[in-house]
Order: sequence, then structure tokens, then C-alpha cells
Amino acid sequence: MAFTRRDFLTSAALSTLAVGLNGQSTPSTDIHGPAPGPQATKGTGSGQGKPPILVSSANGWNGIDKGYQMLRDGKDTLDAAIAVGKTQEDDPNDMSVGLGGLPNEEGVVELDSCCMHGPTRMAGSVGGVRNIKNVALLAQAVMQHTGHVMLVGEGAEKFGYALGFPKENLLTERAHQIWLLWKESMSAEDWWGMGLDDPRYKLPEEGGSERSAAETREIERQRILELAERLHIEPEWREFAVNAVMYPPHGTIHCSVLNDKNEMSGMTTTSGLAWKIPGRCGDSPIIGAGNYCDQDVGSAGATGSGEENIRIAGAHTIVENMRKGMSPHEAGFDALKRIVRNFNNDSAKLQYVDMKYYILRKDGAYAGVTLWSGPADRPARFCVHDGTKRLEPMIALNQGQALDYPPNSRRRSRGAGRS
Ligand code: ASP
Repeated sequence: MAFTRRDFLTSAALSTLAVGLNGQSTPSTDIHGPAPGPQATKGTGSGQGKPPILVSSANGWNGIDKGYQMLRDGKDTLDAAIAVGKTQEDDPNDMSVGLGGLPNEEGVVELDSCCMHGPTRMAGSVGGVRNIKNVALLAQAVMQHTGHVMLVGEGAEKFGYALGFPKENLLTERAHQIWLLWKESMSAEDWWGMGLDDPRYKLPEEGGSERSAAETREIERQRILELAERLHIEPEWREFAVNAVMYPPHGTIHCSVLNDKNEMSGMTTTSGLAWKIPGRCGDSPIIGAGNYCDQDVGSAGATGSGEENIRIAGAHTIVENMRKGMSPHEAGFDALKRIVRNFNNDSAKLQYVDMKYYILRKDGAYAGVTLWSGPADRPARFCVHDGTKRLEPMIALNQGQALDYPPNSRRRSRGAGRS
């Protein structure tokens, strides 16, 4: 799910954090009510849906009607889940998946996806794919047309072309401009950006370290904003671009599906973390981390800090928890607490971790759970469709919002520098 991490934890959030980190948190109550927003929001973050039902990250909103209709028409559960992801993969304005996704540090878009088909218990996955937009379909093709489960990089790309997937430039002009903004904004340390001869070049200021962190961050924000203007980034995209530069965003779509024959499937697709090292794969293409489905039990998927989710095999952990009798909500909270445990309850570090799970049990019970509730006016939400399409607030282990990552000490400590 796409997001920009901006807000600091409130003091109230910090006090709740202590409860959550001790593993004794109960579902928060203040995010259960309707949240403001253009779309109707109802539900409690967990419930009992009636098949057919789809549970997805909030950015599945545009495609979930199509997925629901496919299930009503008797189409395959995995085809319906993939249709939800494909809608955003095809959308150049969604900068978290497919066409228009934000690129790696070299300015190249690399996509990851995986899927599991409950009825046949088959799985497919692709990682680090360039030039092919619909990687959820490509993961499904690996599942259907090879004896392998996972293909990566050039091999995955060549396989796609052999099957007739078109070769496309996935870097939109907007994503390219934002990448260039990121590249040039780093130029206190390298040769990108203005040279000394440019009249607009500003020498780094002395005494910057005496400023508060907030003041330094604001100066940095203004500097990047000016640069965004100079690079002709569209005014309505400048704030997004500046945030993306200061705090590399990530975003992903997951969708879990159950039809009225009790068949299940799941799919996850992403462009991963912006400005990543080429070849980096997060959790999204990892069967058992970004997505897991067991026809006997249920399906789960993840968005958020991929590295942390891989370390607890989040989606598999959740399905196994449900196999042992936990509700979707309990199963998801257990996974979140494993992440908390991996940091030895260190709240200073956990503030920089974002994690969300989308969970659907074979009997139609479902939940959306999150490590952080999000800000009060924009609580974390997920999408459900069981005949009624809705966004529901997620059940939060802790109140508050993850801090911007990275902690950004380098940007805080240096002066204005080259812009
Ligand atoms: N989990 C994805 C990754 O690490 C990103 C995201 O979900 O926002 O690549």
C-alpha cells in the first residue's frame, strides 16, 4: 500500500507503544469508527464475510470490483486476485507498482510479485523484473508454464518475452523526474546537480549543527522543493516528490480471495522500495513472506517493511497460526509481535518500521492488522468486497504512525550544500 511517512508519534502514541511492545496490547478502539475520507468506511477491521469475498490493501480499491465480478462469474480465484493487482500495474499514476513505479538508484524500474493458487496448491514468483509491466501475470506464468517456482532478473524477463509479454519502458516521465530530483538532491557528496559555476549554487552553511532537527529538516525540504521547481516537476506532484526524496516510499498491492466453492488464492505485486540497490527484492516475491495461501486454512499477504517481514516469514506465520485455531486478528497480531521481538522491544528502532497484514480465513473470517494505527485523521485502512465494497480501518498493535525512514542523520547534519 502506498504511503508517505511524515508524522511523528504523538506523546499519547508513545505511551500506547509501551503497551504494544510488551505484547499486551489489545486492539485499539479509536480507529474502529468511520474515518474521514471520500469513500464510505465501515466495519471493525475484522469480521465474517460471505463468499465470494476479496480482502486487499487499500490501493486495491480501483480493481476490486472487477475481481468481485470475476468471482461472481465463476472465474478462477487467482485470476480474480491478479485482476485487482493488474488494475494498478496498468495505471501510470500509481507509483508503487507496475508502469510508473518509482525506480531503483540507477533510475531503472524493477518489479516483484508472487502468487499462490489454492485449489492446485501451485505457486509462482518473479523478482527484479525490468521492462515487463504485469508481473503478477508473469508470476502466474512461471507457475503455469515451468517446473520452477521463482525466476528473477534477466531470466524472468527473457521468459516473459518468450511467452509474449510486451517489452515496455516502465519509467514514466514523472517517475524519471522524481528520480532525478532524488539524485541531484544528494549532491553535497557527489557530482550530480549544480556545479560551483552555477550562480544558484550555495555553499554549505557553517553552524548548521546548532539548528534543531526540525529546523534542519525544514531547510532541507525547502531546498529540495526549489530543486523540484527547477526540474519542472508538476506543482501538484511536488510535495509527493519531495517526500519521496527525503523518505523513500514503498508501496504494494496484496489481494486474498475466497469463492463460493471455498477455493482460495492470493497475489502480491510491487515496484518495491524507491531508490533501492539494483537487484534488491523485498518480501513481495517471497512465497511465505509477502503472500501465502493454504487451501485448507486461509490466505494472507503483507505490505510495508519487506526486510522485516522476510525475517518472520509473515504470511506463512499467519496462515500457520490460523491452522492452530487463532482468529485472523490474533494470527496477524502474533506476526506483528514477532517483528517487535526481533527488535528486542526497542521502540526507538520500531518507530521506523511499518507493517500491515491482510488476512482471509477459509470460512470467510477476515482481518486487516497494522503495527501502527496511522494518524488519527488518516488511519490505516484496507479494502474488503463481499458484495459491498468498503474500506475498513485496520486493527493496530500500537497507536501512532511510524517515523519517516531513514532516520536521516546525514541530511540533518549537513548544511544547505548544492541544490
Ligand atoms: N513490502 C514491499 C517491499 O519491501 C514494499 C511495500 O509493501 O510497501 O518491497
